[in-house]
Amino acid sequence: MILITGGAGFIGSVLQAALARQGQATIVADRLRDTGKWRNLAAHPPDEIIPPDALDAWLATSPPLSAVIHLGAVSATTATDGDHTWASNVALSQRIWRHCAAHRVPLLYASSAATYGDGSAGFDDDASLAHLETLRPLNLYGFTKHAFDLWVARRLAAGRPAPPFWAGLKFFNVYGPNEYHKGAMISVVKVKHDEVAQGLAPRLFRADAADLADGQQKRDFIWVDDVVDVMLWLLGAHGAPSGLYNLGTGQARSYLDLAHAVCRANGAPEAVEFIPMPKSLRGQYQNFTEARMHRLRAAGYTRPFTSLEDGVTRYVHAYLRGPTPYR
Ligand code: NAD
Repeated sequence: MILITGGAGFIGSVLQAALARQGQATIVADRLRDTGKWRNLAAHPPDEIIPPDALDAWLATSPPLSAVIHLGAVSATTATDGDHTWASNVALSQRIWRHCAAHRVPLLYASSAATYGDGSAGFDDDASLAHLETLRPLNLYGFTKHAFDLWVARRLAAGRPAPPFWAGLKFFNVYGPNEYHKGAMISVVKVKHDEVAQGLAPRLFRADAADLADGQQKRDFIWVDDVVDVMLWLLGAHGAPSGLYNLGTGQARSYLDLAHAVCRANGAPEAVEFIPMPKSLRGQYQNFTEARMHRLRAAGYTRPFTSLEDGVTRYVHAYLRGPTPYR
């Protein structure tokens, strides 16, 4: 039995669908709320849904778990409530880590590319304390994800107990079906699709750095199935060492490329409108992210990642314009 925290969310529900398809029993810890998130699970309901407030009590008497996949978090890079974000992203993660260490349960948990801040210290998923201490996240969300990575590194350095296998996954920009509840945090692929579907030219923020042309801000965009494939592979005990793993494609792509791919997938002309970057994002905006993927490759993961063009086409044709947008 596998516990997925955040299993009603975007990545969690696509992973839960894949596990259910394999015949795995899954327990989800999450809130369904009234955002239609239940639709993320409609085609493959889990055995149980545990409200986050009841998770500690549930874990205290839980049946043996074969793995915990901890994705539950305040996932908004714009979060401002420090206490709530710390409680969800750090304190809960610490309790789950301790549980997995004490009960010898393998653990995958979500970290984030936001831990790299402006990228000036590079994008290397080196889990050593010395390296982690060089990173400076730009926002509260990234700070909390980084704080947990650091806490893990300090515990390991102190020889404290750890789960028998663990992987902290530094997701880059994930896009795909089941992300529709995410409001302002929905992927840029979906936002640009909606603009094009309304007959508008996709709008992109003007560059806020002097040496950067408009549309040339770059991110490492990754199709959600590639993320799920890596998680399933890590769970499959292929001998990967425990540690932090970047989870992007290894190739930064521009927002202009993304907008053009969305236009093409919708059969629309490749036109783009540039708009000023909102004040709230200035100084907190990552102009470039690109995952260094050597650690996952060295661990033995060999499958290629989906190109931005193929992922966007699949998302638009099979989901956004398909019979159902849900997995
Ligand atoms: P999401 O918001 O769709 O999913 C997160 C889920 O966690 C939500 O359903 C939320 O209700 C749930 N949650 C919040 N607090 C919880 C708690 N205390 N206990 C249990 N569940 C709780 O986001 P997502 O995009 O699916 O992200 C999944 C994980 O990956 C998150 O930890 C996020 O920070 C991380 N991540 C995502 C991306 C991305 O591009 N989507 C990038 C980097 C990191």
